[in-house]
Amino acid sequence: MKPGGIYIHIPFCKSRCSYCDFATDVYRGNDAVERYVNALCGEIDRFLPQIDAHNADKEFSSDPRYPRLTAADSPSYIDTIYIGGGTPSLLRPDQLERILSAIHGKFEIANGAEVTMEMNPATVTLESLAAFRDLGINRASFGVQTFNDRDLKLLARGHDATDVKNTYRMLRDAGFANVSFDLIAGLPGQKMDDWRRNLDEAVAMMPEHLSLYLLEIHESTPLAEQLRSGRRDLPDEKLVADMYELMIDRLAGAGYEQYEISNFARPGFASRHNSKYWTLDPVYGYGVSAHSFDGTHRYANERDTARYVAMMENSASAEVMREDIDLSSEFVFLGLRLTEGIDLDNFHRRFGIDFDDRVAGLVENELVEVIKGRLRLTRRGMLFSNEVFAEFV
Ligand code: SF4
Repeated sequence: MKPGGIYIHIPFCKSRCSYCDFATDVYRGNDAVERYVNALCGEIDRFLPQIDAHNADKEFSSDPRYPRLTAADSPSYIDTIYIGGGTPSLLRPDQLERILSAIHGKFEIANGAEVTMEMNPATVTLESLAAFRDLGINRASFGVQTFNDRDLKLLARGHDATDVKNTYRMLRDAGFANVSFDLIAGLPGQKMDDWRRNLDEAVAMMPEHLSLYLLEIHESTPLAEQLRSGRRDLPDEKLVADMYELMIDRLAGAGYEQYEISNFARPGFASRHNSKYWTLDPVYGYGVSAHSFDGTHRYANERDTARYVAMMENSASAEVMREDIDLSSEFVFLGLRLTEGIDLDNFHRRFGIDFDDRVAGLVENELVEVIKGRLRLTRRGMLFSNEVFAEFV
């Protein structure tokens, strides 16, 4: 088993964005956050994954702030921590420290572990960022979304493009040397020139990593309602496809390697944590709505924050879903998200399945290609990836 990762969900946000259907709550003061952090630390304390990935030859963190566990104390070895949300940058540094201490109290952390925290513009100060750095956060996932003030308003992001630039400068001043931008394409009313300007602005700021998503519309959101009522229109499919192609070319020209359908990085800066999801390595989630994968099962926590806290305070668990997964299907459609694709011989050895017929049809439609024994999506296949994945499920 390869080293695992830990995902921590912090559900609080300053306000609710118009497209968001994540498990989030509007921040209404520190009391609710305190109660949540207590419940979260209790969960980390109580729930160890049922694996034994401990290996004596691993190099463990020698961080003096966190007492080293003996091997007998900890069955789990991890090399990534990802604190997502929500807006984790709304946490106070002492709350973050309690969460990290709880993790260090139960897990063996690899030396040089990647420790990411999601940060939103205008939610931090230079002091809070410096404190987060001191606590061991070494990667910032920065929620830019767009540099266009009209679009930021449409998305109800609660910040403008000047906030984006100011917060980014603070991240660098605080010593963050690994910053990832989130950007969204295909916004209502967005034109190709708008998207080109977004890419140009992002590239000029030289983040180490970019995650670029196509806007998804979730039924119960205000944005979905605006579209239903005809007040907004989405760009047509052809324009969105052209935006995707422009993104690949523009970022390749600026020295970014595409390593996954939506993710680009300067050499050496691919997200180690997110890669675990695509290569089916274990990831243990803690907090409201957090999902976990232990190598065999997926399981998930309650999605409502108040209920999650009550469950953790009153009973032993907040788990509401557990399922066995079809490993061979997941191996294919998660592996195909990566530009390196999957090794067909390895797949055959591991699962005893041969899917030559299906591959032949997809190759004919120029959706996949086989290069040196690896099956991978073509550029066209990346655009129509759901069609490809459906073939393998
Ligand atoms: S900041 Fe992120 S998590 Fe929070 S409401 Fe907006 S999109 Fe949702």
